[in-house]
Amino acid sequence: MYPEIIPRLPRRRCGQRGHGPIIRIAASCRRFFFGCHALRILPLVLACLSFMACSTGDDGPDIPVFDVHFVVLSGKPHINDAVDTETAVNEIDILNRYFVAEDRQPLVRFRFKALHTFEEIQDTSCEFIRIGDFTGEYSSGYWRDLFNACPDPRVVDPSAINCYIVDSYSAGKGFAEKDSHGVNNANKPYILLDWERLNHTIQSPEEHEMGHAFGLGHECAPGAGIETSTNIMASRECGKGSGGRRDIGFNRKQVRIIKQNAAIMRKKLDRK
Ligand SMILES: [Zn+2]
Repeated sequence: MYPEIIPRLPRRRCGQRGHGPIIRIAASCRRFFFGCHALRILPLVLACLSFMACSTGDDGPDIPVFDVHFVVLSGKPHINDAVDTETAVNEIDILNRYFVAEDRQPLVRFRFKALHTFEEIQDTSCEFIRIGDFTGEYSSGYWRDLFNACPDPRVVDPSAINCYIVDSYSAGKGFAEKDSHGVNNANKPYILLDWERLNHTIQSPEEHEMGHAFGLGHECAPGAGIETSTNIMASRECGKGSGGRRDIGFNRKQVRIIKQNAAIMRKKLDRK
């Protein structure tokens, strides 16, 4: 309903941060005072400071980074053909752009770890993979138990947030259903994205489901139409209107929950 091509976020390089003039001035001083030991090492000191500023990044040292492991759980060939590494990296760019607070500041950063196709994991013993083309009614607890019982790191990477590409089904819509889910799972989170909602299609699915993964529930948006700007976690679940566009970042209360859970998650994922 909101098809949108997401341009890649520009990659920042240290060389683009504009330290050139400082180095040139230092080099000029050095030529002028050649022989003065302190000034001879000044460019080296400045270069070190520049490197340190760059290595901490624009986000500051407090922002936790989470690896994301993608698996295509639908066995349908056209879905596996449609999802490749570029698709997954684009999902990471989308999350890094839109999983933000109301002031558009990032709360965590996401990093692509790996993508497994259905062909690569279909020999697994993990029953969890049946969710990819499942035609029964979705039960969060049932699938969560199967996720937690899966010992295969190709399917459940224990040190990353797992993102599964599925083909959702409902009795009313069949495989045209586009339902997606985010599960916190005691801060061992995963998300299930219907393949037709990749590339930020229909009500901001990536950041909404990742919001659930970080422990958030739904927000009520009374009177919201499908084009109304709403909080990322808005939903029609409360029966007072559509969830809207979900294009307003997380509010202060949500930010607090995300930060608390991110710290716990980081420890749990690092322990593996
Ligand atoms: Zn939701």
